[in-house]
Amino acid sequence: MRDAPAAPHIAPSRAAAPRRDPERLAERLPADHAKLWRPRRVLIARDAQGSEVARHAARAGEAAGAEVVHLSGNQIRGLRGETTAETYRRAKSTLAIVNAPPSALKLQPIPPSADFRLDLATGCPAHCQYCYLAGSLSGPPVTRAYANLGEIFGVLPDYLGQGRVTSGTQARGGEGTTFEASCYTDPLGIEHLTGSLSRAIEHVALLAEGGAAIGLRFTTKFDAVHPLLTLRHGGRTRARFSVNAEAVTRRFEGGTASLSRRLEAMGQLAGAGYPVGLTIAPIMPIENWRPAYLQLLRDAAGVLPESADLTVELITHRFTPGSREVLMGWYPATGLEMDPAVRAQKRNKFGGVKYVYPKALMEEMRGWFAQSVERALPRARLLYWT
Ligand code: SF4
Repeated sequence: MRDAPAAPHIAPSRAAAPRRDPERLAERLPADHAKLWRPRRVLIARDAQGSEVARHAARAGEAAGAEVVHLSGNQIRGLRGETTAETYRRAKSTLAIVNAPPSALKLQPIPPSADFRLDLATGCPAHCQYCYLAGSLSGPPVTRAYANLGEIFGVLPDYLGQGRVTSGTQARGGEGTTFEASCYTDPLGIEHLTGSLSRAIEHVALLAEGGAAIGLRFTTKFDAVHPLLTLRHGGRTRARFSVNAEAVTRRFEGGTASLSRRLEAMGQLAGAGYPVGLTIAPIMPIENWRPAYLQLLRDAAGVLPESADLTVELITHRFTPGSREVLMGWYPATGLEMDPAVRAQKRNKFGGVKYVYPKALMEEMRGWFAQSVERALPRARLLYWT
């Protein structure tokens, strides 16, 4: 979707737009979550107004010092700047509350993680220099949170028993039909502004209590799990934490929670009875990658209670020509290796190319990770390597 430069239909907020006042937010939010996103603007589309998500976003946005604007239409405009950098800054500091389009209510398969995608939002406020959304979402990288949760949750029963990744499978059938909430966003990264992830967790637990074989999954680079700890989750949501060797998180993952905070948050959720997981991604053969990733595995083991139900997903770094172009525009000074000349090409069934590590290196890393995960996290289930 393309955004027009002007914003003539944007009306002032019904609530007076408060000045940015970090202390007001600090009163409302736990003090240790230094990386909670504070958008500059919260734009609430006409059809989303009155929804629980919109009310939550207006309240939390005001507390964070954001300008809250109730739009007279449903288009999110005014995000494009004179330069790529300006567009990026504007979009990344804007939260839009909109209704999910009809296409988002037709759930798509999402192997190898889950049976189906369940989008609560698209876009993410963080600044990871390899972000996989760069090749997937077009236009300025604004975060759009969906307001029509009733409609979104209403389609779930139609998909029960229909998936091919977990539904009815021997390996993962116990998870039921699974829905992945992190395909196009980081749902925990915006939870303090929307409350949507909590609603999804509780809704899935309610369906499970009614007899549905269902599971929700999300993955995150944030740590503000406090609101999730007391939810009635029924053990039906697996909370995975997207982690990496510390050198990678420090260098390439702007605007996210530190690695140690993510791991602590995983330990907290495991302690609250959630099944948890490590999404180790994107794996990169950085200098001394073996000791660096071994440290990660040991640190993860150190935060988990004995009884934790843990899975591990292993995803190597890859890029497409399109995502490379977008990322080079957003992060022109990046030190991230995105050199097609040192990569192998992989084609999908539609002929699209992606650049992955050469086969010999992939096999070496795959063997090392399989063995090291088994040693460091003997009770974990390794779901896949890609
Ligand atoms: S946290 Fe995930 S979705 Fe957000 S910028 Fe980083 S890689 Fe992209």
